[in-house]
Amino acid sequence: MNVEIREIDCIKGKGLFAKKFLPTGSVILEEEPLVCCQFSWNAACNYKACDHCLRPLESAQENARRLAGNYNLVLPHPECCTTNKTAICECASCGTEYCSQDCLVTAFNQYHRTLCLQTKERNGFHPLETLNEAWKQIHHPPETSTIMILPRLIATIEQAENPDEMLKRILNFTHRTRNEDLELVHKIMGDKYVDSLNTLYNLLLAAVPHDVVGPLLTLEGFYSMLALLGTNGQGVGTSPISQWVTKASELPLSKGEKKRLDQFIDKLYEDMDKHSGNFLNNEGVALFSMQSSANHSCDPNAEPNYLHNNSRLSLVALKDIQEGDEICISYLDECNLSRSRHSRHKMLKENYLFVCCCPKCKEQVEDPDVTSSEEEEEDHDDDDDGEDMSE
Ligand SMILES: [Zn+2]
Ligand SMILES: [Zn+2]
Ligand SMILES: [Zn+2]
Repeated sequence: MNVEIREIDCIKGKGLFAKKFLPTGSVILEEEPLVCCQFSWNAACNYKACDHCLRPLESAQENARRLAGNYNLVLPHPECCTTNKTAICECASCGTEYCSQDCLVTAFNQYHRTLCLQTKERNGFHPLETLNEAWKQIHHPPETSTIMILPRLIATIEQAENPDEMLKRILNFTHRTRNEDLELVHKIMGDKYVDSLNTLYNLLLAAVPHDVVGPLLTLEGFYSMLALLGTNGQGVGTSPISQWVTKASELPLSKGEKKRLDQFIDKLYEDMDKHSGNFLNNEGVALFSMQSSANHSCDPNAEPNYLHNNSRLSLVALKDIQEGDEICISYLDECNLSRSRHSRHKMLKENYLFVCCCPKCKEQVEDPDVTSSEEEEEDHDDDDDGEDMSE
């Protein structure tokens, strides 16, 4: 192991520390998620991915055709596509699709036995489908989470060999007060939709078994799970076309061929941008136990990556990390990370309930509270409406 989890203090709690020198670009650790789930609209809009690991189920050409809205498009160098269509299989009872027999079996043994859409009498919508529809009504793209990971979490506990231990592992993630949970839930849902919480709660109750997960299924437990999702949920993205581009760019081509390929790729991205905007990836959310122990820094020395084009996370060093250094990631996306100290603090406080005192924030402690009129305007917008879930 390159890393260890250490207690820091009562405010920061735990942290992730390097046990040896880790050079820039190296993989610090890799881990499978505890649970992972594709975003609801992403799945509904035909971003086809393995229901268990989010590996793409479309070939690179199918993906490019759909995203560019051009069904005559022919992708050169088809050998650079990494999707193995022949390995795709589905649950014999409900038709849920997986990238491989491996994922089908793992999913079934971990949670799908409980959540298979055929296990309950089909009388119109399955309770899980009703829950998903209710969530979609209040959470539109760009998506940041999905409630559908909660049934998966609950079923994982129910099906675990030692459910009590698994329940402890999950509860270990959450150590906030009821008020803190409430504050986070309001931020996640947007004030406009807080009234829908009870509806979602009742739909969740109707969709999952209750045998061992009692504490998680009280209203308070439900808030804790949502808050956990807001603070520890890690975005996952996979894409057949970006894999193809990476592989194609490594081909040993002549100068002329290389130029033609680059032009083709530029045009393709232009067309995909026109037709699909920013929505190019299969996207979802996952909970990771090691990565969850990494604290935030506005000048992070590591970032999560999906080098295997599925939900297996690789934590990659962004700079040289010395033995004993704390390993920090950014909880803010790149765009928000480049904003002023004032804006970063506001976002971290609202979404994660802490005041950042990383080296960069300490350095900028003398900076004025607002650096640009643009940010001032955005701050003002934030105050006006609470439905801004993407921020
Ligand atoms: Zn899979
Ligand atoms: Zn099934
Ligand atoms: Zn900071």
